[in-house]
Amino acid sequence: MASVPQPDLAPQAFIQALASVVGAQYVLTAKDDVAPYYTDWRHVFAGTGIAVVRPGSTEEVAKVVALCATEGIAIVPQAGNTGLVGGSIPTGMRKEIVLSVSRLNRIRSVDPLNDTMTVEAGCVLQTLQEAADAAGRLFPLSLAAEGSCQIGGNLSTNAGGVGVLRYGNTRDLVLGLEVVLPDGRIWNGLKALRKDNTGYDLKHLFIGAEGTMGIITAAVLKLFPKPSSSTTAWIAVESPQKAVELLAALRGLMGDRLTAFELISRVCLDAVIHCKPSIPDPLPGRHPWYILAELTDGGKQEDLAARAEAAFIECTERGTLLDVALAQSEGQAKALWSIRETIPEAQFTNVKHDVSVPISSIPRMIEEGLADLQKAFPGLVGYIFGHIGDGNLHYNIGMADEEATRALMDKRKAVNEIVYAVVAKLGGSISAEHGVGQQKREAIKLRKSPVEMELMQRVKDALDPHGLMNPGKVL
Ligand SMILES: Cc1cc2nc3c(=O)[nH]c(=O)nc-3n(C[C@H](O)[C@H](O)[C@H](O)COP(=O)(O)OP(=O)(O)OC[C@H]3O[C@@H](n4cnc5c(N)ncnc54)[C@H](O)[C@@H]3O)c2cc1C
Repeated sequence: MASVPQPDLAPQAFIQALASVVGAQYVLTAKDDVAPYYTDWRHVFAGTGIAVVRPGSTEEVAKVVALCATEGIAIVPQAGNTGLVGGSIPTGMRKEIVLSVSRLNRIRSVDPLNDTMTVEAGCVLQTLQEAADAAGRLFPLSLAAEGSCQIGGNLSTNAGGVGVLRYGNTRDLVLGLEVVLPDGRIWNGLKALRKDNTGYDLKHLFIGAEGTMGIITAAVLKLFPKPSSSTTAWIAVESPQKAVELLAALRGLMGDRLTAFELISRVCLDAVIHCKPSIPDPLPGRHPWYILAELTDGGKQEDLAARAEAAFIECTERGTLLDVALAQSEGQAKALWSIRETIPEAQFTNVKHDVSVPISSIPRMIEEGLADLQKAFPGLVGYIFGHIGDGNLHYNIGMADEEATRALMDKRKAVNEIVYAVVAKLGGSISAEHGVGQQKREAIKLRKSPVEMELMQRVKDALDPHGLMNPGKVL
């Protein structure tokens, strides 16, 4: 890393210089004003900085970044602050500001014929879904935090969600980016092209970089045809093995109509019902595992419903599924999805992992991981759920009561090690979705090869030679 520029300005003069760029009301320093920006969604990570700065345009972002570059002040980009690994929270290892992109919230254009929209980084994900819908299109990125997370954060974490099976991760939904580089220059890569082979595809450096390479200020997003029919099913299966067999069977029978395929353990369903007793158990009888599946298509609702019903009958006859409840209305479909969406708050406190393995290895990940954990921590409870259509599991570990769970959390590292060892054995990833942030920075060093770590560091140094972008995150 090149030596960091030394500050010329006294702290108060620096604050004034920031205020002269964005306006004094958008430079926050009062304790109550900065508090929400200095703590993460789960209140696990907390930090402090010189100020929270809220620019209102790309040009203002560029000026703030250029000022910080001159003064050697580091920048923590922040969008909706729903990331779960401390990526948007200052670490205190350098003099830092938090740069919130939330005022960059304009939809610059929607082009239905090109199936694209150009949006600013601070647009809330749900607003973008609604804008696409109003234009008769679908923006398929969908996750439980969609009412708060912002597209800049989604891009910077390469967010997944429930539509990955059909539409891919955020990376697959982007055609172009506008980025303020660590020296304050603006890279306008807002191309709305599906084909462009003119050298390195630079946008991919910034997607999933967790704010360590520059600040994403705008993006061209892909839109898709809006499905005119959908079927939501709550399915009971005997085991994770049957769940992956069902996934393969339904993909064979329904093709890309299978849009979402979420695994939910009985333990998670019980936690949801305990948390919100108004939520009914969708099926009679208790089953060990469930799938929440969504099928969507163009064409008539009755055609998709008939096709889905035939597929479920065939899977029942093959012995792949035990029972199924099909939503008969949009309200019933929403009620089924609310079970899935309530899981994070229903098991808020435990040791969380967000891992992926090849889909065919999901049963081993669950069974071998839980067996190894039980040996070390008898009586533990696995809150297992996730997007198994893309091999991603939330592998959360608690105990039967709160006190024992808190004691287990003190041994979090030992729990992590057991889970990560099984992930490594199965060729998986220790961070499938939420990224590295502060939380998994040490863990990735042990699991990526020295060659890979060196390449990552070299790319970082090339773009950010003074290490001013989100220090203490990822690398
Ligand atoms: C209830 C709940 C459910 C969730 N479900 C999912 C899920 O299904 N799939 C999934 O992938 N994630 C999920 N998440 C995690 C989180 O919502 C995602 O990581 C989301 O993409 C973060 O967006 P954000 O706007 O909150 O970003 P933030 O938390 O503000 O930031 C995340 C990271 O991106 C950086 N960053 C933010 N904006 C910019 C920018 N403009 N330029 C450069 N860097 C930037 C930050 O520095 C930080 O490192 C969930 C979180 C919650 C609370």
